[in-house]
Amino acid sequence: MSSKNRDRHVHTTTAEPPRQDTIRRSVEGVLWLPMIGGYRRAGRLAGASGGHNVEDLALPPDPRGSKFRAFTSRDLAELTARGRIPARQSQAMAAVAAVLPFRTNNYVVDELIDWSAVPDDPIFRLTFPQPDMLEPGDLNRTVDLIGRNASSAEVRRAVHEIRMRLNPHPDGQVDLNTPVHNGRHLVGVQHKYPQTVLVFPSQGQSCHAYCTYCFRWAQFVGEPDLRMATNDIDAVVGYLRDHPEVTNVLITGGDALVMSAGVLRRYVDALLTVDTIETIRFGTKALSYWPYRLLTDRDAEDLLRLFDEVIARGRHVAVMAHFSHPRELTTGAVQAAIRRMRSTGAVIRCQAPLIRGINDQAETWAELWTVTSRLGAIPYYMFVERDTGPQDYFSVPLARCYEIFRAAYAQVAGLARTVRGPVMSATPGKVCIDGITEVNGERVFVLHFIQARGPELVGRPFFAQFDPDATWLTDLKPAFGATQLLPGVQFV
Ligand code: SF4
Repeated sequence: MSSKNRDRHVHTTTAEPPRQDTIRRSVEGVLWLPMIGGYRRAGRLAGASGGHNVEDLALPPDPRGSKFRAFTSRDLAELTARGRIPARQSQAMAAVAAVLPFRTNNYVVDELIDWSAVPDDPIFRLTFPQPDMLEPGDLNRTVDLIGRNASSAEVRRAVHEIRMRLNPHPDGQVDLNTPVHNGRHLVGVQHKYPQTVLVFPSQGQSCHAYCTYCFRWAQFVGEPDLRMATNDIDAVVGYLRDHPEVTNVLITGGDALVMSAGVLRRYVDALLTVDTIETIRFGTKALSYWPYRLLTDRDAEDLLRLFDEVIARGRHVAVMAHFSHPRELTTGAVQAAIRRMRSTGAVIRCQAPLIRGINDQAETWAELWTVTSRLGAIPYYMFVERDTGPQDYFSVPLARCYEIFRAAYAQVAGLARTVRGPVMSATPGKVCIDGITEVNGERVFVLHFIQARGPELVGRPFFAQFDPDATWLTDLKPAFGATQLLPGVQFV
C-alpha cells in the first residue's frame, strides 16, 4: 500500500476538548490528548468494553513533526520536582540511575505519565528508577558516594561491583546462546532455538526510553564488556547460510527501530539474500515510547517502505511489540502508528512481562489484550519477570502470575486468546505455567515447554511442587518424590 493511502480512514471532530486532567482515566467517550508537536486528536479511546471502529481513531501525522527529546539522569531532579517527589526519594532515584539505566523522553513524560498519580503511576514506575530497586546496602552506599562527590573512578568501581551481583546476562544468554562459526564466537548473535536467531546490531542497542524492569539492562550501562552487539552482518549471513534450519531472524536490542531506516536496511537487505529466512522479526517498544518513529520522524516513510519491500519479496515481517500497560495505547499517535505499520502488511504481536506495581492486575491485562486486538495487533506473550537486575523488586510469585493470567484470559474474546502465559524465558527454554492443581493429594504446578533448546522437550508436560513464594523456574522442586523436574534437563 502506498504511503498516501495509509491514513485514508482518517476523520476529525469539532468536539470541544475536556480538561486535560480528566483525559487519561476515561475508558469510553471522545478523547483529547495533550499536544506534543501538534499531535492532538479526538476519537474514541479503545477500552475493554467499548465497541468503536478503530479506523476512526487515527489522525495523519502532523506535518510539523514531533521532536524527540531524551531525558537522562542529568534531568532527574527537574523531572522529580514535577512529580513533587521529596528530596530524599529523589536522591535515592539518582543513586539507582547510577547503577541501572535511566532514559525517558518528552512523549512519555508529556503524554503517557499521569503526574497527578506519581509516584504510583504505572508509566512512571515503568520508566523512572524506583528507590527499592536496589538492596538497602547498595542503595545507601551509592547515595553516599554521590552525596560526597566521590571520584568517578570510585563510583565506577562500586556500581560495577553492584551490577555484577545483579546477574547481567541471565539464562545462558552469552555462555550458551552465542553461536560459533568457523571457529569464531559470533558475539552479538544468539541461537537458542533451532528455527530462530537473534541479532543485536551495534546501532540498535538503546531504546527511546528504558524500562525499569528491563532484562537487557546490561546493554545500556556503558560497560563494553557487558554489552552484546555486532555490526558484522556478513558473518551473520555466513552463519545463516550454513544453518538452513533457521527460518526466523529477530533484529533486537535495545530496540530495532532506534536505528535509522538506512542502517536497518543494511541488515535487512543482507538477510534477504538468505533464501531460507522466511520471517524477519523486529523487537521494539517504539510504538509505545516514540510512535512518531512511524509518523513524523525524518525517515518514517523509508522505514515503512522497507517493511513494504520485505513483504513484496515474499517474506513475513513480524513486529514484536512491547506493550506493558493499556495506557500506552491511548494516544492518537500510537494508534496512528499501529495503523501505518499494519498498512505495510507487517503483523504486530504484543508481549510484556507481568510486573509488580505496573501491570499486576487481571483487569489491566484483559484491557491490554482487548485493546491490542481491536487495533489489529495480536496478543502473544505474558512473561514472568526474569532473574536479573531488580527482579526481587518487580517480580510477582508464579502462583499469582497464573491467577492473574487466568482471570484476564477469562475476560477476553476468543481472538485475544492467542496470548500465551505466564511464561518464563529460562535457561532450557520457554516454560509456560499451565495450571495449579492437586494430584494424589499433592498440590502441584503443571508446566510445559513452549520452546526448548532440545526440541524433544517441546510440549511435554511436567510437574513441580506448589510453592506460593516461587518466582522463577529455579525455585521449583520436583513433585511426587522425583529427583528432577524433567529427567535429563538442566534447569539451572
Ligand atoms: S524496550 Fe525492551 S530492551 Fe528497551 S528497555 Fe524496555 S525491556 Fe529493555
